[in-house]
Amino acid sequence: MQKKGILIVVSGFSGAGKGTLMKKLVSEYEGYALSVSMTTRKPRENEIDGREYYFVSREKFEEVIASQGLIEYATYVENYYGTPVEYVEEELKAGKDVLLEIEIQGALKVKEKFPSALLLFVMPPNIDELKNRLKQRGTESDEIINKRLKRAGEEAAGIEAYDYIVINDDLNECVKSLHQIIAAAHLTPGRNALFIEEFRKELKQN
Ligand code: 5GP
Repeated sequence: MQKKGILIVVSGFSGAGKGTLMKKLVSEYEGYALSVSMTTRKPRENEIDGREYYFVSREKFEEVIASQGLIEYATYVENYYGTPVEYVEEELKAGKDVLLEIEIQGALKVKEKFPSALLLFVMPPNIDELKNRLKQRGTESDEIINKRLKRAGEEAAGIEAYDYIVINDDLNECVKSLHQIIAAAHLTPGRNALFIEEFRKELKQN
């Protein structure tokens, strides 16, 4: 049976540790491809163009929207963020599980376009931890941190649209659970319809 790639959406409040989790998942296990988004946000000090994001101007972003170059896009705290279509399609075709680390509006659009996408929501163990992580990052002003916390409140209202929540308490444990959830998702009947159909046909021939 040929393994077909799953499109996996990972969302979570700003400061929940999604970026670190994704990088670790990709480096520890085979078969994953991490999509790099495009954004109009300015790079943080440790970020590299083409690694964390493709950092572009508003004009460039709007050109890419117009040329249908994005699977989805959204605005988040005053900036555009979007998923380039080409990489995702290529990697899925190659049988990879493609990870999109995106916010909730984008996640819902992906689910509409790709009903078999798996939606995961990463949560910190508690609210104090969330605030600490946002502040410790030290890259955003108090004003932006407050906007991100407000946005977290809005996103919390939509968690039921996701298939699973994952609690990011211990990084290693969390990466392991993510991988296990994805391995289980590969085994749902809906994602194996062809295999099941073939099996049924062969059974009838007996
Ligand atoms: P940050 O500025 O902290 O890197 O990202 C802000 C938010 O934008 C995060 O919730 C992140 O998951 C989301 N995001 C990153 N890339 C994309 C994207 O391509 N599309 C959408 N819809 N959201 C994204």
